[in-house]
Amino acid sequence: MTTPASRQYLIAGNWKMNGSLTANNALLDGILAGVNRLHDVEFLVCPPTAYLDSVNSQIGSAPLRLGAQNVSEYESGAYTGEVSARMLTEFGCRYVLVGHSERRSLFAELNEQVADKFAAAVEAGLRPVLCVGETLAQREAGDTEAVVGRQLRAVTDLVGVAGFGQAVVAYEPVWAIGTGQTASPEQAQAVHAFIRAELAELDPELAETTRIVYGGSMKAANAAGLLSMPDIDGGLIGGASLKADDFLAIGSAAFDAISK
Ligand code: PEP
Repeated sequence: MTTPASRQYLIAGNWKMNGSLTANNALLDGILAGVNRLHDVEFLVCPPTAYLDSVNSQIGSAPLRLGAQNVSEYESGAYTGEVSARMLTEFGCRYVLVGHSERRSLFAELNEQVADKFAAAVEAGLRPVLCVGETLAQREAGDTEAVVGRQLRAVTDLVGVAGFGQAVVAYEPVWAIGTGQTASPEQAQAVHAFIRAELAELDPELAETTRIVYGGSMKAANAAGLLSMPDIDGGLIGGASLKADDFLAIGSAAFDAISK
C-alpha cells in the first residue's frame, strides 16, 4: 500500500535524555552517511536541547531535519529553565515534539498545556509533532478512541484547521513505548484511521495531507509491516534511533514502502 504522495514518510528519532558530544558526533556521522541514498523519505532527529547547536552545525546542509523534544508555551520572561519556540528556531529546529507521553506522565503535562505548547510552536513557525496515545489500562477499558480523541481535540479546538496545517501527529500507545511491545500493524492502523477520520470532520483536505506516524518500540524488524498500512506515514523512534544502522534500517523500510 502506498502512502499518498502528499504525505512523505517521516522517520523521526527521539533521542530523549541520551547522548554526549562525542556519542552524538558518531551517531550523526552514521546517520548522515545513509540519508542521501534514502531520498524521498524525510529524516528528523530530536536531540536534547543542550545539543541542538552542535547537532545543527554537524547537519549543515544535509537532508536531515532537526527538532526539539519540548517547548515552552510562553514567549519569554520569568520562566526559569524553559526554552521558547523562537529560541528553538534560532538553533535550526524545524520541528518540535509536543505532548510526548513521558512529558504527560512524568512532568504532569495536561491536554490544555500541550495545546498551548502546540500553539506557541506554530506561532514561531515550527512544525509540531503532536504525540497522542493511550495507556494499557485505558486500552483494556475500551477507552483508546476517547482518550486519543480528547488529546487531539484539545489542540484542534485551540488552533483550528489553519493552525494544524503543518503539524504531524504521532500515535504512540504508552504501553508500547520503550517496552519492546509493539502495536500490531492492524492495531496501529485502526487508531491512525480513527485520527484521520477525526481530522476529516474538521476538514477533509487536512485529513488527507496530515502525516500520522507511529511510535512505540518501532525497529527494523517490525517497520515494514507498520509502514505498509495505509494511514501510517512514518515513525517516531526512541531506542532504535540511537544506533545509526537501526535508524537507517527503518528509513530503508520506508523507502521500500514508497514503491509498493
Ligand atoms: C518514543 O520515545 O517516542 C518511543 C517511541 O520510544 P521507543 O521507540 O523506544 O519505544
